[in-house]
Amino acid sequence: MKYLVDKYSRRIRYIRISVTDRCNLRCRYCMPVGGIQWLPHDSIMRYEEFLRIIQICAKRGVEKIRITGGEPLVRRGILGFLERIKAIDNIKELTLTTNGLLLGGLAKDLRSVGIDRVNISLDTLNKDKFVYITRVDALDKVLSGIENALSEGFAPVKINVVAIKGFNDEEISSFARLTMDIPIDVRFIELMPIGCASKFGSSSVMKSYEIRQLIERSFGEMEPLAPGLGPAQVFRLPGARGKVGFISPLSDNSFCSRCNRIRLTANGYLRPCLLWDHELDILGPIRRGITDQALEELLEQGIMSKPGSHKISYNYSGRTISLMNEIGG
Ligand code: SAM
Ligand code: SF4
Repeated sequence: MKYLVDKYSRRIRYIRISVTDRCNLRCRYCMPVGGIQWLPHDSIMRYEEFLRIIQICAKRGVEKIRITGGEPLVRRGILGFLERIKAIDNIKELTLTTNGLLLGGLAKDLRSVGIDRVNISLDTLNKDKFVYITRVDALDKVLSGIENALSEGFAPVKINVVAIKGFNDEEISSFARLTMDIPIDVRFIELMPIGCASKFGSSSVMKSYEIRQLIERSFGEMEPLAPGLGPAQVFRLPGARGKVGFISPLSDNSFCSRCNRIRLTANGYLRPCLLWDHELDILGPIRRGITDQALEELLEQGIMSKPGSHKISYNYSGRTISLMNEIGG
């Protein structure tokens, strides 16, 4: 097989697809509360168009697809789309990132269409703080979504926590404790200066090593686990069932060298790097009738433009202006 490889010899195995910019929450670091300019419907990629790209990439060694958004579970017809991805040869892993609000009602269906794993984003276990950060009173729904995912047999269920100084730093240990007795993996993500998050400023960023120190102060030293293919660093608390991971785009210098992914935005742009405002239009050429071969070449061209590393630093210089709900996180 002729793999998709970028100019720094990183093999692309993984595509993250934002299927919609719409969402039923308004997380402060991700979306403005009002005045949102939704993408016009006809500029959103149709499922058929995504499937065509996935098919081409799967023939070139892409093995993993993650569906994200906006909130992917609000898009009509999502289950049928997932089922069709699952049927594509060579796709070994199909996963979904969700805010969990609709998971209670959909966990069973997601299991039956063959989703391998769900990641649920949850930044606080406190009801009032949840209302503050998401601007919606829905913590109970998310928690019952997590319970349903576990009882439908998703194991482990991953919880993504964006760590924010002065907001959830006191809850770090509570999140880590979730990994002790149930098959839950918790992953702490450094707050990235993308779109709305820039207004938080660098003083809100908790670096992964600070989070790790907080956890080890409460639970003792964590066991480092073998790294997976992606950029997360993973550990286990003494005696725990689940794992604790760290995504450290700002504090880990080797983060970019392990990057194996590209992104497709809801409006059909290939985004080679999350933290760089450079995108290549794919939807336009598709709608103008591009052949499969030319489309494959266009995707290769986008991958070749993937930067060796991002330029964002702690002081938030080099921030990106794109909105996270369009890119998909
Ligand atoms: N709505 C879904 C959800 O919240 O899981 C999927 C889309 S959301 C954009 C994907 C992930 O990006 C979530 O885990 C969210 O917390 C994370 N995210 C959004 N903005 C972020 C930022 N500025 N820095 C770090 N993570 C961010
Ligand atoms: Fe919606 Fe996810 Fe963004 Fe929150 S992080 S506003 S749930 S897309």
